[in-house]
Amino acid sequence: MSHQKLMLAKNVAWAADMIRRDADFFTRISKIQNPETLWIGCADSRVPAEKITVSLPGELFVHRNIANLVCTDDTNAASVIEYAVKVLKVRHIVVCGHYGCGGVRAALMPLDPDLPAVNRHLQPLRELAARHATTLLSCDSFDARVDRFAEINVQHQLTALRRMPVIRTAEQALTLHGWIFSLEDGRLQVLPQDSAPTQPIAAIKFA
Ligand SMILES: [Zn+2]
Repeated sequence: MSHQKLMLAKNVAWAADMIRRDADFFTRISKIQNPETLWIGCADSRVPAEKITVSLPGELFVHRNIANLVCTDDTNAASVIEYAVKVLKVRHIVVCGHYGCGGVRAALMPLDPDLPAVNRHLQPLRELAARHATTLLSCDSFDARVDRFAEINVQHQLTALRRMPVIRTAEQALTLHGWIFSLEDGRLQVLPQDSAPTQPIAAIKFA
């Protein structure tokens, strides 16, 4: 059986199981969505928001992109945040990065000429890396640098969120959370909210 056929077959079984557990589940969620949380995470296939938090359909409003970036000139991310805050009235926003992030790693390496869209997307992360050059260069290994930068990135995206007018003028109380996921043990950790100290942009190559 192809992977796609298997996916469809698993869907049939899953839907039947959901109805067996809660006969009205789909009737209920088909009427309205009322998620409490906006999840902003990495597109990495190994960090599926609902799976790792054991959330049901309807519980998370999700935006994922490579390296979980929040850029105000990114219409996709900005529209999700705007809709989540203004229409869905979410009360929590989680920015979730992960250790071993390929996007974060790529931002610390030379540009790949074969990936122009990825390069454009990761440009803000390259600039962030330059601002944290001293911290990153003090890491013991490149892998450690990638993981430290994944943490810094989450904290930076939280700061970017806090500065957005849609967040600052939200009518509801909003709590922002910075989390990081470990691929090695499947655990989420809560990161301190304060941004790491930044340094002036330095012309330093990371790889
Ligand atoms: Zn990633």
